[in-house]
Amino acid sequence: MSEKFVVSARKFRPDSFESLLGQEAVSETLRRAILQQKTAHAYLFCGPRGVGKTSAARIFARAINCASPLASGEACGECDSCRAFAEQRSFNVFEMDAASNNSANDIRQLIEEVNIPPQVGRYKIYIIDEVHMLSTAAFNAFLKTLEEPPEYVVFIMATTEKQKILPTILSRCQVFDFKPIPSDVIIGQLRHIAQLEEIQVEEKALELIARKADGGMRDALSVFDRIASYTDGEVSYSRTLESLNILDDDYYFRFVDLLVHNDYASTLLLLDELIMRGFDPRTIVLGLTDFLRNLLLAFDPQTLPLLHLTKETEASYNQLAQASGRGFLYQAIAKLMECLKEYRNSNAKRLLVEMTLLSLTSLAQERVSASHTPNQRPTPAATPPSAPSPVAAPRPQPIAAPAPARPSAPPTPRQTGASTEAPQSIDLPKPPPTASMAAPRPVAPAPRPAVAPSPTATSAAAPKAPTQEKRSFTETEMQIAWNAYAEEHLQKNLFLKNAFNEVLPKLHNGTEIEAIMFNMLQVNAVERIKGSLLSYLRSALHNSDITLQVRQIETIEEERSQRSITPLELFRSLAAEPQTPLHQFIQALKLRPL
Ligand SMILES: [Zn+2]
Repeated sequence: MSEKFVVSARKFRPDSFESLLGQEAVSETLRRAILQQKTAHAYLFCGPRGVGKTSAARIFARAINCASPLASGEACGECDSCRAFAEQRSFNVFEMDAASNNSANDIRQLIEEVNIPPQVGRYKIYIIDEVHMLSTAAFNAFLKTLEEPPEYVVFIMATTEKQKILPTILSRCQVFDFKPIPSDVIIGQLRHIAQLEEIQVEEKALELIARKADGGMRDALSVFDRIASYTDGEVSYSRTLESLNILDDDYYFRFVDLLVHNDYASTLLLLDELIMRGFDPRTIVLGLTDFLRNLLLAFDPQTLPLLHLTKETEASYNQLAQASGRGFLYQAIAKLMECLKEYRNSNAKRLLVEMTLLSLTSLAQERVSASHTPNQRPTPAATPPSAPSPVAAPRPQPIAAPAPARPSAPPTPRQTGASTEAPQSIDLPKPPPTASMAAPRPVAPAPRPAVAPSPTATSAAAPKAPTQEKRSFTETEMQIAWNAYAEEHLQKNLFLKNAFNEVLPKLHNGTEIEAIMFNMLQVNAVERIKGSLLSYLRSALHNSDITLQVRQIETIEEERSQRSITPLELFRSLAAEPQTPLHQFIQALKLRPL
């Protein structure tokens, strides 16, 4: 069985421009160079690992030396040079791995070698992999040769870290940027190999492998090989999950569902279940972070295609994203990243993860009490955490998308139950009818009425705090209130809603809110609703001292440039000041005043 699985990455290594998948633009330019016989002396191939840089270098090297290239720019495969190349006995193509040969001495040897003209063929081609690993001394030794290479030499350098290449080197190379290979191209190639190798595959398994490989064909192929040999030639979804040690999306759907419903008990049980199944807490947090990031992309129809999901999965992603809200997703990701940062040095890793998840549930709770969408599930622990189904399709989410503006709809009595336990709920006002937003607060601060909620009752409940409130609040609380306003009042004003989403307002001196908009249109639009927004924020955050300043981003830069002093201005001001030595010096020399 095992001899059947030759490492696919090697066996299916592209050997022609045609088979170099996902890098069409690069291939096209290189082919043209071959056909027009316009070969440069130095090339730099940049891009992530496993996307075909070294393969492209070899394909190109072979074509450069081919005696009779085809009309497509490919090497003929039959001439002496091509045959020598295929049999790996070519004297004209040299490969060097700069990761292990990075000293100045290695480069000096290379340069000596470069100075000997080719015995057969036209060009000597040097492929230098991981060129960013060369030491500075090696780079400097190399620079001179790169400046004036012999006519017959072509350098093809490859790097995953373009930013580490010295500008002097960059400027002497033709630079090609290799892109991550699109998932569907990777999936297509895996399917093709599976057919040739008679391996049974499940489409969902291929999707998973492609996603894990993150644009690298080499990684995808080696993962595929591993799974195929491990499963005796059957690449099923469940075996792939198992062998990649990744969690099925369904678990993350459950996590987010529990989090946005503030169901912390079930959240902790789910975490425990996964740890018991052998998943390391860090893997779980990483996976969850990635999933939330995907939800963020799924939020917007424009970024949704970046996820390369099937239509069905797309729909469930989008639904959950809408239900979670962009604000929650942003902040949850930030908290999880913080957790990952602390993870390594933590002595209580599990506790750290648990606390982070708990903080996410309360985050969701803040959002729920802020946005007043009917998110409350009838029974918080409806999903028994001990019934995992790793292969189950993502189930439809019971959460409703944020409802459109409901000026007069009575709030549902969902504020009972879990929400009462929210430890740090910022207690945003009940949805006040839009019309009442700018209205002055009634002076009599009635306590929250115990009567059944009705629109009037709610608006009376909103100013339950006295007019002169001074509760302190954090920037995060303010940003949540900011987002909540957009959710409640800007459903019909997409322009403004998007503007709100793009901006994270800042808090200065405890009560001064500053929102920096991208353009004047946005500034003007916010100015028009400023009254309503301000009274909403004051009421939501229980602080009547709140002020709001809306500015355009360029305005700030202008001010900064006004504030900064040029050296000439500084000189003039010092020269004009009678006490300064500079002034006395100018006086002594009887120089003309500036
Ligand atoms: Zn040839």
